[in-house]
Amino acid sequence: MNGKRLILMGPPGGGKGTQARFLQDVYSIVQLSTGDMLRAAVAHGTRLGKKARLVMDAGGLLSDDIIVGMISDRIGEADCENGFIFDGFPRTVAQAEALDVLFDEKYLRLDAVLEIRVPDERLVERITGRFACEGCGEGYHDIYKRPKTDALCDVCGGGGFLRRADDNKETVNARLIAYHEQTAPLLPFYDAKGLLKVVNGDQNMNAVTAELKEALGD
Ligand code: AMP
Repeated sequence: MNGKRLILMGPPGGGKGTQARFLQDVYSIVQLSTGDMLRAAVAHGTRLGKKARLVMDAGGLLSDDIIVGMISDRIGEADCENGFIFDGFPRTVAQAEALDVLFDEKYLRLDAVLEIRVPDERLVERITGRFACEGCGEGYHDIYKRPKTDALCDVCGGGGFLRRADDNKETVNARLIAYHEQTAPLLPFYDAKGLLKVVNGDQNMNAVTAELKEALGD
Protein backbone atom coordinates (compact mmCIF):
# COMPACT_ATOMS: atom_id res chain seq x y z
CA MET A 1 0.00 0.00 0.00
CA ASN A 2 1.33 3.45 -0.86
CA GLY A 3 0.87 6.98 0.35
CA LYS A 4 1.71 6.67 4.02
CA ARG A 5 2.90 9.48 6.26
CA LEU A 6 4.68 8.00 9.25
CA ILE A 7 6.87 8.93 12.20
CA LEU A 8 9.47 6.48 13.43
CA MET A 9 10.44 7.06 17.06
CA GLY A 10 12.91 5.40 19.36
CA PRO A 11 16.14 6.02 21.27
CA PRO A 12 19.49 6.71 19.59
CA GLY A 13 20.85 3.37 18.34
CA GLY A 14 17.40 1.82 18.41
CA GLY A 15 17.41 1.02 14.69
CA LYS A 16 15.30 3.91 13.32
CA GLY A 17 17.57 4.57 10.34
CA THR A 18 17.79 0.91 9.36
CA GLN A 19 14.06 0.33 9.63
CA ALA A 20 13.19 3.61 7.89
CA ARG A 21 15.28 2.45 4.92
CA PHE A 22 13.30 -0.81 4.77
CA LEU A 23 9.95 0.91 5.09
CA GLN A 24 10.70 3.47 2.41
CA ASP A 25 11.15 0.61 -0.06
CA VAL A 26 8.12 -1.36 1.15
CA TYR A 27 5.74 1.60 0.89
CA SER A 28 7.46 3.63 -1.88
CA ILE A 29 7.83 6.59 0.44
CA VAL A 30 10.79 8.83 1.28
CA GLN A 31 12.90 8.55 4.42
CA LEU A 32 13.31 12.00 5.95
CA SER A 33 16.09 11.91 8.52
CA THR A 34 16.85 15.25 10.15
CA GLY A 35 20.12 13.73 11.43
CA ASP A 36 21.16 12.88 7.84
CA MET A 37 20.20 16.39 6.68
CA LEU A 38 22.31 17.93 9.44
CA ARG A 39 25.26 15.61 8.72
CA ALA A 40 25.08 16.69 5.05
CA ALA A 41 25.19 20.34 6.17
CA VAL A 42 28.22 19.57 8.37
CA ALA A 43 29.97 17.81 5.46
CA HIS A 44 29.32 20.79 3.18
CA GLY A 45 30.58 23.24 5.81
CA THR A 46 27.50 25.50 5.55
CA ARG A 47 26.59 28.00 8.30
CA LEU A 48 23.97 25.58 9.57
CA GLY A 49 26.55 22.79 9.41
CA LYS A 50 29.01 24.72 11.58
CA LYS A 51 26.36 25.32 14.22
CA ALA A 52 25.03 21.75 13.96
CA ARG A 53 28.45 20.20 14.45
CA LEU A 54 28.93 21.77 17.88
CA VAL A 55 25.48 20.73 19.09
CA MET A 56 25.73 17.20 17.66
CA ASP A 57 29.19 16.60 19.12
CA ALA A 58 27.80 17.52 22.53
CA GLY A 59 24.80 15.19 22.07
CA GLY A 60 22.29 18.05 22.38
CA LEU A 61 19.40 19.09 20.14
CA LEU A 62 19.31 21.82 17.48
CA SER A 63 16.72 24.55 18.00
CA ASP A 64 13.13 23.74 17.08
CA ASP A 65 12.95 26.70 14.63
CA ILE A 66 15.87 25.43 12.55
CA ILE A 67 14.55 21.87 12.43
CA VAL A 68 10.94 22.79 11.67
CA GLY A 69 12.07 25.16 8.88
CA MET A 70 14.15 22.37 7.36
CA ILE A 71 11.25 19.90 7.43
CA SER A 72 8.71 22.42 6.18
CA ASP A 73 10.82 23.02 3.06
CA ARG A 74 11.57 19.35 2.54
CA ILE A 75 8.01 17.94 2.67
CA GLY A 76 6.99 20.42 -0.05
CA GLU A 77 9.37 18.78 -2.54
CA ALA A 78 8.01 16.60 -5.35
CA ASP A 79 9.42 13.27 -4.12
CA CYS A 80 7.42 13.61 -0.89
CA GLU A 81 4.06 13.62 -2.64
CA ASN A 82 3.51 9.88 -2.28
CA GLY A 83 4.32 9.93 1.44
CA PHE A 84 7.29 9.91 3.79
CA ILE A 85 8.67 8.48 6.98
CA PHE A 86 10.24 10.82 9.53
CA ASP A 87 13.32 9.38 11.21
CA GLY A 88 14.55 11.47 14.15
CA PHE A 89 11.81 14.08 13.85
CA PRO A 90 9.92 15.36 15.78
CA ARG A 91 12.15 15.23 18.85
CA THR A 92 10.39 17.71 21.14
CA VAL A 93 6.76 18.47 21.92
CA ALA A 94 7.24 21.91 20.31
CA GLN A 95 8.37 20.22 17.06
CA ALA A 96 5.35 17.88 17.17
CA GLU A 97 2.98 20.82 17.66
CA ALA A 98 4.63 22.68 14.78
CA LEU A 99 4.23 19.56 12.64
CA ASP A 100 0.49 19.45 13.43
CA VAL A 101 0.21 23.02 12.14
CA LEU A 102 2.25 22.22 8.99
CA PHE A 103 0.06 19.20 8.23
CA ASP A 104 -3.13 21.24 8.72
CA GLU A 105 -1.84 23.93 6.37
CA LYS A 106 -0.99 21.35 3.71
CA TYR A 107 -4.15 19.22 4.26
CA LEU A 108 -2.01 16.21 5.14
CA ARG A 109 -2.82 13.45 7.62
CA LEU A 110 -0.43 11.49 9.81
CA ASP A 111 -1.12 7.75 9.47
CA ALA A 112 0.86 6.35 12.40
CA VAL A 113 3.67 6.90 14.90
CA LEU A 114 5.82 3.80 15.34
CA GLU A 115 7.95 3.46 18.46
CA ILE A 116 10.86 1.03 18.30
CA ARG A 117 11.38 0.22 21.98
CA VAL A 118 14.85 -0.84 23.15
CA PRO A 119 16.12 -0.91 26.76
CA ASP A 120 18.84 1.66 27.52
CA GLU A 121 21.43 -0.94 28.52
CA ARG A 122 21.44 -2.38 24.96
CA LEU A 123 22.01 0.96 23.25
CA VAL A 124 25.62 1.82 24.04
CA GLU A 125 26.89 -1.46 22.51
CA ARG A 126 24.65 -1.00 19.50
CA ILE A 127 25.77 2.58 18.88
CA THR A 128 29.51 2.27 19.46
CA GLY A 129 29.76 -0.75 17.09
CA ARG A 130 27.96 0.70 14.12
CA PHE A 131 29.36 1.98 10.82
CA ALA A 132 28.00 2.62 7.33
CA CYS A 133 29.04 2.40 3.71
CA GLU A 134 30.41 5.71 2.51
CA GLY A 135 28.93 5.18 -0.96
CA CYS A 136 25.35 3.94 -0.42
CA GLY A 137 24.76 4.44 3.30
CA GLU A 138 24.06 0.75 4.07
CA GLY A 139 24.45 0.24 7.82
CA TYR A 140 26.72 -2.36 9.47
CA HIS A 141 27.79 -3.39 12.97
CA ASP A 142 31.06 -4.78 14.37
CA ILE A 143 29.22 -7.65 16.10
CA TYR A 144 25.75 -8.01 14.58
CA LYS A 145 26.19 -7.27 10.90
CA ARG A 146 29.62 -7.36 9.33
CA PRO A 147 29.96 -7.08 5.52
CA LYS A 148 29.87 -10.60 3.98
CA THR A 149 33.13 -10.01 2.13
CA ASP A 150 35.45 -8.32 4.56
CA ALA A 151 35.85 -4.60 3.85
CA LEU A 152 33.44 -4.48 0.88
CA CYS A 153 29.85 -3.24 1.04
CA ASP A 154 27.29 -6.05 0.40
CA VAL A 155 25.02 -3.66 -1.47
CA CYS A 156 27.22 -1.48 -3.69
CA GLY A 157 30.62 -3.19 -3.45
CA GLY A 158 32.29 0.01 -2.22
CA GLY A 159 35.32 -0.23 0.04
CA GLY A 160 34.91 2.90 2.18
CA PHE A 161 33.11 2.92 5.52
CA LEU A 162 32.33 5.72 7.97
CA ARG A 163 31.58 5.94 11.67
CA ARG A 164 29.48 8.85 12.94
CA ALA A 165 31.44 11.43 14.94
CA ASP A 166 28.77 11.35 17.67
CA ASP A 167 28.73 7.54 18.02
CA ASN A 168 31.07 7.43 21.01
CA LYS A 169 30.46 6.53 24.66
CA GLU A 170 30.68 10.11 25.95
CA THR A 171 28.17 11.57 23.50
CA VAL A 172 25.80 8.61 23.72
CA ASN A 173 24.95 9.38 27.35
CA ALA A 174 24.02 12.97 26.54
CA ARG A 175 21.91 11.74 23.60
CA LEU A 176 20.10 9.28 25.84
CA ILE A 177 19.36 12.00 28.37
CA ALA A 178 18.03 14.24 25.58
CA TYR A 179 15.85 11.36 24.39
CA HIS A 180 14.32 10.64 27.79
CA GLU A 181 13.86 14.28 28.79
CA GLN A 182 12.76 15.86 25.52
CA THR A 183 11.61 13.18 23.08
CA ALA A 184 9.97 10.49 25.24
CA PRO A 185 7.14 12.94 26.22
CA LEU A 186 6.01 12.66 22.59
CA LEU A 187 4.92 9.07 23.18
CA PRO A 188 1.92 9.99 25.38
CA PHE A 189 1.30 12.99 23.07
CA TYR A 190 0.74 10.68 20.08
CA ASP A 191 -0.87 7.92 22.15
CA ALA A 192 -3.56 10.40 23.17
CA LYS A 193 -4.27 10.97 19.46
CA GLY A 194 -4.64 7.19 18.94
CA LEU A 195 -1.65 7.11 16.57
CA LEU A 196 1.04 5.33 18.61
CA LYS A 197 2.08 1.75 17.87
CA VAL A 198 4.89 0.12 19.86
CA VAL A 199 7.18 -2.61 18.52
CA ASN A 200 9.92 -4.57 20.27
CA GLY A 201 13.26 -3.32 18.90
CA ASP A 202 15.35 -5.73 20.97
CA GLN A 203 15.34 -8.53 18.38
CA ASN A 204 16.88 -9.12 14.97
CA MET A 205 16.30 -6.59 12.17
CA ASN A 206 13.94 -8.76 10.11
CA ALA A 207 11.74 -9.48 13.11
CA VAL A 208 11.50 -5.75 13.85
CA THR A 209 10.57 -5.01 10.23
CA ALA A 210 7.88 -7.71 10.34
CA GLU A 211 6.40 -6.25 13.55
CA LEU A 212 6.40 -2.77 12.03
CA LYS A 213 4.53 -3.97 8.95
CA GLU A 214 2.06 -5.84 11.11
CA ALA A 215 1.53 -2.73 13.25
CA LEU A 216 0.68 -0.88 10.03
CA GLY A 217 -1.88 -3.53 9.16
CA ASP A 218 0.07 -5.18 6.32
P1 AMP B 1 20.18 11.24 14.60
O1 AMP B 1 20.89 10.93 13.34
O2 AMP B 1 18.67 11.25 14.44
O3 AMP B 1 20.62 10.40 15.77
O4 AMP B 1 20.56 12.75 14.97
C1 AMP B 1 21.90 13.12 15.26
C2 AMP B 1 21.94 14.46 15.97
O5 AMP B 1 21.36 15.48 15.13
C3 AMP B 1 21.13 14.53 17.26
O6 AMP B 1 21.86 14.03 18.37
C4 AMP B 1 20.85 16.04 17.35
O7 AMP B 1 22.00 16.74 17.78
C5 AMP B 1 20.60 16.42 15.91
N1 AMP B 1 19.18 16.28 15.52
C6 AMP B 1 18.65 15.37 14.63
N2 AMP B 1 17.33 15.52 14.51
C7 AMP B 1 16.98 16.53 15.36
C8 AMP B 1 15.74 17.13 15.71
N3 AMP B 1 14.57 16.71 15.19
N4 AMP B 1 15.75 18.15 16.61
C9 AMP B 1 16.91 18.58 17.15
N5 AMP B 1 18.11 18.06 16.88
C10 AMP B 1 18.16 17.03 15.99
